[in-house]
Amino acid sequence: MDEAYLGQFVRQTKLINEVILGGLLPAGGGGMLSWKELPHFGQTWLRNVLSVGAVYFVTCGLWCFYIYYLKRHVYFPSGSIPKRSTMLKQIWLSVKSTPLYSLLPTVTEYMVEKGWTKCFANIEEVGWPIYIFYTLVYVILVEFGTYWAHRELHDIKPLYKYVHAAHHKYNKEDDLSPFAGLALNPIDGIIQASPLVIALFLVPMHFLTYLVLAFVEGVWTINIHDCIHGKVWPVMGGGYHKIHHTTYRHNYGGYTIFMDWLFGTLCTPELEPHEKKSS
Ligand SMILES: [Zn+2]
Ligand SMILES: [Zn+2]
Repeated sequence: MDEAYLGQFVRQTKLINEVILGGLLPAGGGGMLSWKELPHFGQTWLRNVLSVGAVYFVTCGLWCFYIYYLKRHVYFPSGSIPKRSTMLKQIWLSVKSTPLYSLLPTVTEYMVEKGWTKCFANIEEVGWPIYIFYTLVYVILVEFGTYWAHRELHDIKPLYKYVHAAHHKYNKEDDLSPFAGLALNPIDGIIQASPLVIALFLVPMHFLTYLVLAFVEGVWTINIHDCIHGKVWPVMGGGYHKIHHTTYRHNYGGYTIFMDWLFGTLCTPELEPHEKKSS
């Protein structure tokens, strides 16, 4: 890839930085520090931190209001919802970790801008059928990688103890909440998101589509901690992930049940614990 081609990636990230940072932060001036004075890498990092924060607080806030306040009698008839103090602890861990694990998407964008990945800038370069094919292969690779990254976080004992256990402090319906979704040790966040990055080196991927998928991944991670079983096959929603937080040995997957089914760790929410054969 030549400099002119790579310049397209830089223009795209600069535009996104300007739209998001310009929308969320004051422009500066009059002695005030401005995000515009940061180098491009710093702007991208700040944009990633603020984007994660905005997605986290808006998605969690709205969803918690809906399921715990407006529709509590529908989703939690027994009344077992998390305490406010538990959610505040989850928020605090998320807020502490976000600046560190946001380094991963920031470094990823840097690598894309340098031409080290297989990313391409425009769909027209490959055509729509090939674009759809590449995106599908990418998503399947990410599903595979997410499954194994998460499974190894449990199987390698020191990794579990020092990295993943912080997320598993919340293991019951009345202490799991959407706010627990990003309540992770920063290394945990980096390991679990790394398949999104590694796959960029394996399959040609449209850069802006990658950014959209990374955003969707954040929203999805929040969603699967609501303990609500959506019963939409083959989606691995909150009902499945609640079992993961209870048994530790099932439902490591991301968006779908396929990887757990393939590797023998699937446990569907309908089954009672004594019926689980796959452990
Ligand atoms: Zn886990
Ligand atoms: Zn979880």
